Amino acid sequence: MKKPPLLSVNQLKTHFYLDKNRVAKAVDGVSFTVSPGETVAIVGESGSGKSITALSIMQLIEKPGKVVEGSIHLHDKEISNLPSKQMTKLRGNEIAMIFQEPMTALNPVFTIGNQIVEMLRKHRKMEKKQAKIEAINLLKTVGISRAEEVVNEYPHQLSGGMRQRAMIAMAISCNPKLLIADEPTTALDVTIQAQILDLMVEMKEKFNMALLLITHDLGVVSEYADRIIVMYGGQVVEEAKAKELLRTTEHPYTKGLLESLPNLKEDVDRLGTIKGTVPPAYDLPSGCRFYDRCPFAMEKCKQTNPPLYQINDNHTVRCYLHEKEDIK
Ligand code: SF4
Repeated sequence: MKKPPLLSVNQLKTHFYLDKNRVAKAVDGVSFTVSPGETVAIVGESGSGKSITALSIMQLIEKPGKVVEGSIHLHDKEISNLPSKQMTKLRGNEIAMIFQEPMTALNPVFTIGNQIVEMLRKHRKMEKKQAKIEAINLLKTVGISRAEEVVNEYPHQLSGGMRQRAMIAMAISCNPKLLIADEPTTALDVTIQAQILDLMVEMKEKFNMALLLITHDLGVVSEYADRIIVMYGGQVVEEAKAKELLRTTEHPYTKGLLESLPNLKEDVDRLGTIKGTVPPAYDLPSGCRFYDRCPFAMEKCKQTNPPLYQINDNHTVRCYLHEKEDIK
């Protein structure tokens, strides 16, 4: 039986008011759920709206951006309108986030230990001495062998991979129910990338968390995700269980993403590379947002943006090639 969702995002719209005449619709009606213990990946190119979706969930959108519509529930609780004090408490306690470049999230003037201790004192109300012992344990848990030394080191003294491990230690320090990872491995070498992804999955299992992975790299998530959501032009264009999405890819954009991955899916229809770029969020076309780049584009695709069609209970696609299916 399907578990009730841990996170439900419903018709989320996050817009940026660039100037008097230009509104960038970075996230434009996005809905999805994450169940307890599930790993969901949001995939798309830069400018697809995936990171803005994650930042909207965390209430980390800065001006001129604003969540203008929609709801975000953590279990049954609406969190999109929580006052900032309550949201600060929730960040860390219930949802934690790690970023592509840990240096942006780690404070360069405090030691790694100080930063974890601070989290533990604030969110788990630990005494300083106890928190330091726990910080060392957490660093060991994330595979840092000389944890007793690293706890006293500053972020710049660590390698990129070690910093990301320290970030993960900080993120899991308060046993969050949901870990959001925004391009967690993009800045790392390929071998370190795999280690960090393996570590995140190990931590997810160990601490019984759900994982929301944000990435531009479909190859990275194909091994790790239970479900994949593909975003384009601020909208979800395809969603399915990972195996199904890789086996029966339906949206021309997803096919293009897969096609650019060597050896991932040998029998995919050949599309070649996806020409062109994502349309700017302040100048979205009235028709299908993939129209200019789509090798299957038809006249009607230019007129109106397609709705999401339901291929089966677990698979939806935003494309007129599937208009015989029910609208979601
Ligand atoms: Fe291509 Fe038309 Fe489908 Fe858009 S709706 S992805 S343009 S076929």
